[in-house]
Amino acid sequence: MTVSSLRDRLIERISLTGPMTVADYMAVCLTDPQQGYYTTGTPFGRGGDFITAPEISQMFGELIGAWLLQIWLDMGEPANIRLIELGPGRGTLMADALRTLSLRPDFLAKATLHLVEVSAKLRQTQMQTLASSPLKPTWHDRLEDVPNGPTLLVANEFFDALPIHQYVKTITGWQERVIGLKTSAEGKEEELTFGLGPGHLPPSEIPARAKTAADGSILEVSPTANAVATIIATRLKEQQGAALLVDYGYLQSSTGDTFQALHHHAYDDVLAHPGAADLTAHVNFEALARAARLAGALPTEPLEQGDFLLKLGLLERAGALGRGKDAKTQEEISNAVERLAGPDQMGSLFKALALSDGSFVPAPFDAVAFDKIASHRHHRPQQGDNT
Ligand code: SAH
Repeated sequence: MTVSSLRDRLIERISLTGPMTVADYMAVCLTDPQQGYYTTGTPFGRGGDFITAPEISQMFGELIGAWLLQIWLDMGEPANIRLIELGPGRGTLMADALRTLSLRPDFLAKATLHLVEVSAKLRQTQMQTLASSPLKPTWHDRLEDVPNGPTLLVANEFFDALPIHQYVKTITGWQERVIGLKTSAEGKEEELTFGLGPGHLPPSEIPARAKTAADGSILEVSPTANAVATIIATRLKEQQGAALLVDYGYLQSSTGDTFQALHHHAYDDVLAHPGAADLTAHVNFEALARAARLAGALPTEPLEQGDFLLKLGLLERAGALGRGKDAKTQEEISNAVERLAGPDQMGSLFKALALSDGSFVPAPFDAVAFDKIASHRHHRPQQGDNT
């Protein structure tokens, strides 16, 4: 029996039931149980399509481990602590973080490790990476399945993989962008193509900055990402703790098409290789912070990744790691510092946002100015409010 490609299955589905939203397309391409990018591929590392911060250097996970440990100490060293990672990839960040966390064996004695991962294949990789780690992981399909308890949560490059809807400014308002079919130039086969669907973004969901956008502008909304932020925030409020969300993203809701594909280390047409290319969209940190605040958690002012890592002691850690090593190793370490924190590399494009249960602001973050994350939906203008 021949297995249809994911592209053929998408074409069949669209010809039967009509055009699909960008969000549905993204979800199928990334997480289809048989042919999704994360479910079937080995996306990371040198042979993969992209290299994430924990794969660049052990320092990234180690510093995040130090951040988590400090919060646990500040919380008064609670027992029954749930150490949670969303989308752990190869498990590298957690393995590195656990090295730092092991500095306090009493933390390990009081903690359990929970990994939320959709891909069975990546769960296998995570199991291998964490085989000799001091905490044995439990895997979950969803964050809601993680048992109650004070929470320390980390998610690196997780939210950018969650589906977005795109809306296009037209004469009728913000019309949903969909994926339909067209006949190829040779007139033989069907191809995927972008079009406009009947749905519109409700006016209450339109950010102020988009109100004067020109026709053809694109606005992205991720109800899934916002829902995950709500679930994290609800958990923090009820169980106490903090969360760290690190991703490629922007700080204020605005227009722009950030939906992109990476295939074999090169940018690709998002419709060209369904299931074989990595699809991402930039994360809207303003929307995540707002969702978290509405659910009762305290979002911090986001920091650029470079700033965050330097404040956590990246340079000191790099110095310690390189001490007494040969010139080549030292150069590798300083290259890693540059890649993680350099403004023209990951340092400024990636942002870190912390959420807490509301009883503290996790260092090195600052409290957020609340008018900056005012709700669009129930928007009451305040003095100094420029959203
Ligand atoms: N945090 C890792 C990997 C980032 S890639 C790193 O920094 O290297 C995104 C990760 O999220 C992968 O592990 C992917 O399988 C997982 N993932 C994507 N969508 C998911 C979903 N809806 N639920 C759970 N995990 C998901």
